[in-house]
Amino acid sequence: MSTTGPVFDSKLPAVGVSIFSVMTRMANEYGAINLSQGFPDFACDPELVEAVARAMRDGHNQYTPMPGVHALRDAIAAKVRHCYGASVDPATEVQVTCGATGALYSTLTAFVKSGDEVVLFEPCYDSYVPAIRLSGGTPVFVALRYPDYRVDWDEVARAITPRTRAILVNTPHNPTGMTWTPEDMRQLATLVDGTDILLIGDEVYEHIIFDGRRHESLLRYPELRSRAVVISSFGKTFHATGWKVGYAIAPAALLAEIQRVHQFVTFTAHSASQVAFAEFVTRDPGAAGLADFYQAKRDLFLQLLDGSGFTPLGCSGTYFQLMDYSAMTSDRDTDMAMRLIKDHGVAAIPCSAFNYQDTGGPVLRFCFAKKDETLRAAAERLRDI
Ligand code: PMP
Ligand code: GLN
Repeated sequence: MSTTGPVFDSKLPAVGVSIFSVMTRMANEYGAINLSQGFPDFACDPELVEAVARAMRDGHNQYTPMPGVHALRDAIAAKVRHCYGASVDPATEVQVTCGATGALYSTLTAFVKSGDEVVLFEPCYDSYVPAIRLSGGTPVFVALRYPDYRVDWDEVARAITPRTRAILVNTPHNPTGMTWTPEDMRQLATLVDGTDILLIGDEVYEHIIFDGRRHESLLRYPELRSRAVVISSFGKTFHATGWKVGYAIAPAALLAEIQRVHQFVTFTAHSASQVAFAEFVTRDPGAAGLADFYQAKRDLFLQLLDGSGFTPLGCSGTYFQLMDYSAMTSDRDTDMAMRLIKDHGVAAIPCSAFNYQDTGGPVLRFCFAKKDETLRAAAERLRDI
């Protein structure tokens, strides 16, 4: 009898373990302070935990309707009206998913066919490209270049071909902290006008935007909204990344196509969490105070590293700060990240991990969604380098 198991060709031969898992594992192994993977090291609101527990006690433990709990879809529709002036039908235009990741996967799987191209901006979040490739699509990269990572619209125009199925936009942008401006939205609208290009907006950091800026959601612009799937996640907004509840908003015909896939990926998302989020989103649709909370953390981190060998790059949103280390060494970012963990006890993400073609620049990404004491302890180590 053979003991070797079946032979197979990997569908994702170039994909290894996600950089977030790798760096967190190394941080634990070396006892390093973990500013790599993006998650808060502080607790979410105890009242939110109590609301989930109450929902469970009240019997919300079975499948929800496939699109999500009614009250949550109503709350999401009310929230986007409050925040972006968008009119969304909670019955036909909102789908609750297992995190933004679930929404991204179902959306890309629903629309990308073999031979289709998806334009995306690198550095980019790690789940996009595998999902495109699993559907037989080709990612077409437009580089956001060190040090300011702005969109080069001539390059976007050159990347669009008759095979372009979708453009994937992420603002506020992970990992750079760059945010799109009204002018970026105008340029995007001009480029897609008269085409069948779908827009996919990853807006998971929509409420984490700094220095008085306004989040440029695709939902603000009717001419973009009519061709857009807008994706977000409660993980970032409510300090509960492990609960994996997110959503997609799209015009009814587009959403129905996403639901064709979603119903066979997970069908529904965690029921009690949805009941609790419905209550919390209704109470505070704009996540008041979240931007100030994280801006204070960004500013503390920058102040603590002032005078160190690291030079901060602009961060106008997200809970990530890019740091330029080129004043200290010409090492590659992956080598620098290893040295930082092993010799200095701080874990960060090398920006090149988010890149496929461009080098990414001499920068590391630090997550500042951490207790002030964690940021202080990390900064002390980083200042010693
Ligand atoms: N998109 C971006 C840009 C992210 O940073 C994250 C967070 N990991 C996700 C999507 C996934 O969100 P979720 O954990 O809700 O699946
Ligand atoms: N979004 C988080 C980050 O960018 C991590 C997500 C994950 O671990 N898959 O760090």
